[in-house]
Amino acid sequence: MSDPDLRIRGGRVITPAGELAADVLVTGGRITGLVDRAVPTPGAAREIDASGRLVLPGMIDVHVHTREPGFTHKEDIESTARQAAAGGVTTIFGMPNLDPPTSTDKALEDVLARYAASSIVDYNHNPAATLPDQVPLMAARGVRAFKVYMVVDTGRTYPHPAGTGMHDHGDLLRMMDAIAATGKRFIIHPHDQALMDYIEGAYWERGENTPQAYARAYAEREGVIWDTAIDVVLRLAEAARCPIHLAHMQTRRSIDAVRRAKARGVDVTCEVNHWALFLARWEDVERLGPYALSYWVPDDARAAVWEGLRDGTIDVCSSDHAPHTREEKDIGWTKMWSAHTGTPGIQYYYPLLLDAAARGELPVERVAQLVAEAPARHFGLAGRKGALLPRHDADIVIADPDATMEITEDGVLSKCGWTPYEGVTCRMRIERTLVRGTEVYAGGDVVGVPGHGRLA
Ligand SMILES: [Zn+2]
Repeated sequence: MSDPDLRIRGGRVITPAGELAADVLVTGGRITGLVDRAVPTPGAAREIDASGRLVLPGMIDVHVHTREPGFTHKEDIESTARQAAAGGVTTIFGMPNLDPPTSTDKALEDVLARYAASSIVDYNHNPAATLPDQVPLMAARGVRAFKVYMVVDTGRTYPHPAGTGMHDHGDLLRMMDAIAATGKRFIIHPHDQALMDYIEGAYWERGENTPQAYARAYAEREGVIWDTAIDVVLRLAEAARCPIHLAHMQTRRSIDAVRRAKARGVDVTCEVNHWALFLARWEDVERLGPYALSYWVPDDARAAVWEGLRDGTIDVCSSDHAPHTREEKDIGWTKMWSAHTGTPGIQYYYPLLLDAAARGELPVERVAQLVAEAPARHFGLAGRKGALLPRHDADIVIADPDATMEITEDGVLSKCGWTPYEGVTCRMRIERTLVRGTEVYAGGDVVGVPGHGRLA
């Protein structure tokens, strides 16, 4: 074994087997050993003193809207990757609602070249599965998953543009058959558009267009538009034997439905986004209006989400980082159906989860599972990424559990220039982020170089 390039000394290392008092050795971008602190390392070219620090796996965020190409006035790949580095995210998976939408092999080839040139963290991309003949071609490029939205924009043309949506059940089953043949996972934004047309129509007839009305419509009848879509999708996935991943878990019944589906052997995973845990209370809808997203997760549903996180029904935390400009948001104060929905979050999700761990909401080991181990396992990266173990990429976050981090607008790295979390203080501060052994964030600065990122 050659001498290590780097020794991370004295930290509390969070591994799949639990916390370990060990030094991490890194050689050629990979972890080559977790060794006793007393073991001398001949020739370690460099050391990082991590005394008193948590040494954590980097987050693999499988749901990220980079806005490039097509919407780079909101964000781009480089600005997204810089936020990732600052937020402890070492791999990003982009989403296909771009211009052109990533629904063809040609569009995918273009977008992958953009990451290769611009990203400072590792990357992949989830293309839209709307054209069955394109699915095998795109799978061959090394994607880990496909994406489709069951939602149609009404009153606006973004963020769910033509070429990324599908809600006809026959089309969904056909697509699941095509994806099952590739062995990839199918990410679905669940939504029953026919029910939503009926529900939102009643709000419009009454002239109710505020963020509060929008929030109530989406949560109406305890989230019936989510639950019915998820029931259908689970049954279709079972019929097609297609691995699926459900985005945006936020209702009690849908979490129950996933729990039951898993028990009968359906290959379903699901995610919770930062806003469902930390942002979608009624007071957030009132205070932040269109800036809060604006879904509303009522208290009993939020409790079910946290329970699902703790008991393993919810597998993955991914940000659904979805920046929009203030202009695109402000129209929502009076015309919420015309506002672009979504909210930025990649820079702060991991810190907010570490803060939740510091407050005793869930063990830090569970946070590591949710942000790293589980996404690696379910998106084809197990054994390479997602855990601080030998032979894995040295995608590492070093955090100070005794420090705090106040979220301020000055610190926002998104091109959109705002965060819904302004004024929030996290207990625990990310000090360094390493991608394959190279620091991309250190001492409060993004230090990664565009082009460092590789296809994951
Ligand atoms: Zn999204």
